[in-house]
Amino acid sequence: MIVFKFGGASVKDSNGVKNLLKIVKSYSENLVIVVSALGKTTNALENILKLSFNNIPESKNQFTRLKEHHFQIISDLFNNDDQKLVTEITESFGFLYNILYNSEIEDYNYRYDQVVSFGEIFSTKIISAYLNKELLKNTWVDIRKVLRTNTTYREAKVDYKKTSEGAMNKFDFKKSRVYLTQGFIGGAEDGSVTTLGREGSDYSAAVLANVLNAESVTVWKDVDGILNADPQYFSETKKLKKLSYQESVELAYFGAKVIHPKTLKPLHNKNIPLHVRSFINTKDEGTIIHCFKKYDQDLPIFILKKEQVLISLFPKDLSFIIEDELSKIFKYLSDHRIKVNLIQNSAISISFCIDNSNSNVKTLIDHLKEDFKVLYNDQLELLTIRHYNPESIDQVTAGRKIYIDQRSRHTAHFVIR
Ligand code: ASP
Ligand code: MG
Repeated sequence: MIVFKFGGASVKDSNGVKNLLKIVKSYSENLVIVVSALGKTTNALENILKLSFNNIPESKNQFTRLKEHHFQIISDLFNNDDQKLVTEITESFGFLYNILYNSEIEDYNYRYDQVVSFGEIFSTKIISAYLNKELLKNTWVDIRKVLRTNTTYREAKVDYKKTSEGAMNKFDFKKSRVYLTQGFIGGAEDGSVTTLGREGSDYSAAVLANVLNAESVTVWKDVDGILNADPQYFSETKKLKKLSYQESVELAYFGAKVIHPKTLKPLHNKNIPLHVRSFINTKDEGTIIHCFKKYDQDLPIFILKKEQVLISLFPKDLSFIIEDELSKIFKYLSDHRIKVNLIQNSAISISFCIDNSNSNVKTLIDHLKEDFKVLYNDQLELLTIRHYNPESIDQVTAGRKIYIDQRSRHTAHFVIR
C-alpha cells in the first residue's frame, strides 16, 4: 500500500479537489490519503481563536466567512445535493462555535488544538464525500482516535506503539481499498484533540506509512519537487532529482521549507521512499528521497533563513565559558523551546543564531545578562550552502557584511547582513 499527502494549497478550491480526484483515480494500489485543511484554513482558525480569546467581536465575522467559504466549495462540488454532508459540516461548525464562544477552556495551547483541528475535519469530510460521489469509493477515518499522542498541545509527541495498534485495525485493506484521513491532528488518551505542529501533515503521512509498512509516500506539492534554492529568493533554481535521507534532514534542519523536518525519521527507520511531486505538473517524476549513498547532483543547495538574531556571550570576568555554563544556557533555550540555528564558540565567548520571529528574544537577552556580558545583532540572515564551491559562495556573499563564516567539508554557513 502507498500513502499520498495533499497539502492545503492543493485543495484550496473546488478545482483543487477535482484535481485530487484525477490524480488518485490514476492509481490502482491500496491507498491511504492524508489531507490538510483547505487552503489557508489553519491560519484563519488561528486568527479566529486569537480574536475570540481576547473577546474581540470581529472573531465571529471571520468565523462566518470561513463557514461560508467551506459551503461555497461544497456547493461548487455537489450542487448542494449531498444533504448528509451539509448536515455533518453544519454540525461540526456548531461544535467549533461552542468551543470558541461558549467554553471556559483557559489553557491557550489546549484550546488551540481543540479549535484548529477542525480545519482537517472539514476538508476530509468534504473530499471523502466528493470522491464517493464520483465513484472513487473510500473510507473516512477519524485519525483523532488512531494517531495517539501525548498532551503536549500544539506539538504533540506520537506514541508509535499505540498508533500502530490502532492503525492496523482501522486501515484494513480487505474492507476498503482507499482510506482518507486528516493530517496534522491526533488524539490523546484523555480524549482531547492534539496537533503535531504547523505544517505537520507531511509528518502524519510519514507516521502512518511507518506503522502500516507502506511501500512509499508521495507528497503532492505546487512545485516540481525539491529545488536547490527557494524560488522566492533565488532567481535560478533547479530541481534535485534524488536526495538521501541524511541530506534531506540537513536541508530541513537548516530551514529548507519543502518538507516538515520530522517527516524523515519514521520513513528512514523503515527505509520507505518519499516522493515529492507536483499536483499541477503530474508528468514530472519529482524528487525521490531514499537511502542513496552520496550526493551526486553536482548542484550547490542554498538555504536562506531570514530574521535572525546573533547573540554573543562573554563571561563578565574573562573566565572560560565552561561546560557548566553551556549546559545552563542550553537548558534555558530548550525549556523555552528556542531553536538554535548556528553556534560558534571561542575560548572566552559563545555566539549563537536564533529566529527573531515569535521567540521571546528580549526576555532571553535579559535573562542572559544576569550572568554574561551580552552583545547582539538583529535583522541578519543565515545562509547555508550545502556542497558549496567558490562560485556559489561569491554568488551569495558578494557585497554583504559577513558576521560569521563557518565551513565544514560539505556545508558553509554565513551569517550576513
Ligand atoms: N493545516 C496544517 C497547517 O496549515 C497542517 C498542514 O498543512 O500540514 O499547518
Ligand atoms: Mg496547511
